This record gives sequence, C-alpha cells and structure tokens, in this order.
Amino acid sequence: MRSESSSTAAAVTEQALVRAHALASAFLQSLPERPVAGLPSPDEMAAALDEPLPEAGCDPAAAIDEWFARAERGITASPGPRFFGFVTGGVTPAALAGDWLASAIDQNAGLWASSPAAAQTELVVLRWLKELFGLPADWAGALTSGATMANLVGLIAARQWAGRQLGFDAAGDGLAGQPPIPVVSSTEIHLSAVKCLGTLGLGRNQLRKAAAPGGSVDIAAMAALLREVAGPVIIVGNAAEVNTGQFDDIAALADLRDAHPGGAWLHVDGAFGLFASASPRFAHLGRGIERADSVASDAHKWLNVPYDSGFAFVRDAAILREAFAAGGAYVLGSAGWDPFTHVPEMSRRFRGLAAWCALKAFGRQGYRAVVERCVDNAAAFARWVETTPGIELMNPAALNIVCFRILGRGRDEAATDELNRTAVRAIQGDGRAFVTGTVWNGHAAIRAAFDNWQTTLDDVALLQGAVADVTRSLSG
Ligand SMILES: *Cc1c(COP(=O)(O)O)cnc(C)c1O
Repeated sequence: MRSESSSTAAAVTEQALVRAHALASAFLQSLPERPVAGLPSPDEMAAALDEPLPEAGCDPAAAIDEWFARAERGITASPGPRFFGFVTGGVTPAALAGDWLASAIDQNAGLWASSPAAAQTELVVLRWLKELFGLPADWAGALTSGATMANLVGLIAARQWAGRQLGFDAAGDGLAGQPPIPVVSSTEIHLSAVKCLGTLGLGRNQLRKAAAPGGSVDIAAMAALLREVAGPVIIVGNAAEVNTGQFDDIAALADLRDAHPGGAWLHVDGAFGLFASASPRFAHLGRGIERADSVASDAHKWLNVPYDSGFAFVRDAAILREAFAAGGAYVLGSAGWDPFTHVPEMSRRFRGLAAWCALKAFGRQGYRAVVERCVDNAAAFARWVETTPGIELMNPAALNIVCFRILGRGRDEAATDELNRTAVRAIQGDGRAFVTGTVWNGHAAIRAAFDNWQTTLDDVALLQGAVADVTRSLSG
C-alpha cells in the first residue's frame, strides 16, 4: 500500500526529474551552436556559486534549476563535436540513457549479491570489449573510473607478480624491507601511470625512461635499460602517447619481456590507442597488445560514455584477485562474480549499464565507424596544417591527435613559445573550437584530439577557421 507521504515523494521526484530532463535537453540541443568554453575566472565562478551551507532546504526541482542558472557560464561544451582539448569523448544517446537509468535504479555494482544484474552486465561489457579489440577471451578485467585507475589495477597486478618472483606478497606484507621492483617505460609515459607508481609505493622517481624519438620508444634503448635490471621488472608500454598519438612497438616490447632473464610484466596504457584495434585499417598500430600482461583503457574517451568510466584487463586472474584479496564475514559466500575482488573500491557505480547500452546500440560496426571517422577527421586537419602557411605540423599524426604550432616569423624560440601559449588561450576564448597546449621536442605547441562520435568535417572546418583567424591576428 502506498502511503500519502510516499506518493508525495514520488511526485517531488517526478518534478525534479522533469526539470533535469528539460535542462539536459536544452543543453544537448544547444551543443552544436554553443560557444565551446566560456572561460570564467576562478573569482567569477566563486562569485556565482560559493555560499555557506543552506540552513533550510528547498524544493529539489528548484535546487537543480538554481544550480544550472548559477553554474552555466562555467559549463564547457566538452561533450560536443568541437571540443578537441586533452583527449575527450562525448556521450552517445544510448550511453546517456543507460547512465540516467543507472542513477535511477542506484545499484551497488561492487558485489554480486547487491546486484546480480549489474555484475553480469559488467561481465558482458568486458566480454564485448575484448571482442571489439581482439583481446584473449579468458583475460580477467573490471570497469574503473578511468584510465588512471585502470593503470592502477594493471600495475597493482604487476606489483603482486613481481613480489611473488622475488619471494614476497606485496599486497599482504607490504614493500618495506623488500628488494625494489624496477619499472621501465619511455619518456612519453602518461603522467597518470607515473602517479600510480607513487600510489603503489614503487616510487615516481624510481621510474627509468628510455628515449622515444618521434614519440615511440626506441627499442634498442629499452633493451639496453633492461640489461641493467637483473631481477623481475615491470615494462609500461604506451599505446598511444597523448601529444601526437604515436604508438610504442608493443610486439617488440613483448619480445623483450619474453627474453628478459629475470622475468618481466608488460603493462600497456591504451587509454585511447586501444581503440585503433576496433578498425582493421588501424589495428596494426597496436599489434602485440594481445600479448600484454595487463592493459588499461578509457571508456569516457573513445567509447563515448559519460564520465567517469574506464576498464582494465589482466591476463592472470589469480594474481589480480590475490592483489585485492580481503576477507570480511559480511561479504563472504557470494554465488557469482564479485567485482570488488578485482578493483580498489568496494561499493561502486553501475558503470556497466551505460557501456552496455552504448555497445549494444552501435555494435562492432558502429564503433569501427566512429574510430575511422575520428582518424579521418584528424588526417584532414593534419593535411590542412601542412598546407597552410604560417603553421607547421610538429610530428606525423599517427591516429587521432594532431600536434602543431604557429611559426615565429623572426621571433626567437622563447617568443615563439609565448606566441603559441597565447594562441591556445585565444582559440579557447574564440568559442568555435577548444584545443589545448603542450610541449613537443622542447617547443610550446598546440594539440587537437579527435574522439567525439559526432564530429564532422564541418566541425573540422570551424576548427581550421578559428586557428587561421588567431594565427593571422597574432602573427602580424
Ligand atoms: C587520458 C589518459 C590517461 C588517464 O585517463 P583518465 O581517464 O583521465 O584517468 C592515461 N593514459 C593516457 C595515454 C591517457 O590518454
């Protein structure tokens, strides 16, 4: 029987959802035309939002209305087709619907017992992702909050393996008093993997880096590094690096792993580069990933599901479970798969539903088309850069990232760097397209990443227009 108060609560919920739906629909409809970033200052955002905790509450529909009105200037159009900053995906219709429903049904995807539907959905999503990328079906895995946490999951398994090789249980006994576990990668290793080494007690400063001329690790330099390391070692391969999208030769790294006398674990950071494997046109770039011991990737980038979402795969399921083993009488005796035994968290969001809907609605062919369209857009933009006076390409665009800069025309290096940093801010402020800056080969540069499922050549033309106008106005 429904009490009067529960029917009132249902009505209040309904009104709040109707408001959220209206705000969301208006935002999504505005995305094609909306300025891509408003760039308010921190003071302006604080003035718009900061206030003491309200003493009295308010109507939920009014709360969400008020937040949107006050915060709107600081909302970027990052899910839209003209946001080329960092490596940023959008949200497919199916993914958004799945994500909304996941909030409404509010399942705890940590334990089988708290939601058999969520646990089984996650298993299916992991299966589909392995099928999409041609990875071995028997690998263990889990969804994570992103590629940083996916790197962490892979490297936790790696650390556990290395400890076992050295005769100790890293998760159980800790690292104190034990021999060090060396980690090698290239100079292009992603900052998130370096952060993980700090979190893991392996030490950010202990990382040894081989040169990566052109963005791809020098295999001879990596072999030389490995010769200096006697015992078991963790190799982090990059597929791909974030500035220009270049891949390490993962098959060659797997050969080095196999040949290392003290044993080695190959972890591959494929945050966006793993998606090359979804297209027969680009799968060769990631050749050898299927030989890795662990792989990290993002779903909120090229899978185009909402934040936050990523996934990790580990070849040796037993090592992964050993790393996360923890007993507690109140969670024992599960009938099915318990995701919390594969990831750092216990309770967790039901991320699998957005990914399931996205994969179901696009299928293998749909994702292949998304990847190929994005790479074609990047190639079109790179060609434009190469043929436009006053700007230059910094490195070949291997996949979906184009790195370029405005030429100094008589300026010295420092002034040319400053010109390019100013140009990034000017393009962002222009509102037609969003790009971000970087440093490549010691030079300040501009990068545009293509991973939004909706971006068309018309959007690329808008990006080109913004870059051309800013270049003209700044290089005069
Ligand atoms: C984005 C990215 C990461 C970090 O991913 P998050 O989802 O931001 O945690 C790691 N590695 C590479 C190569 C990336 O592009």
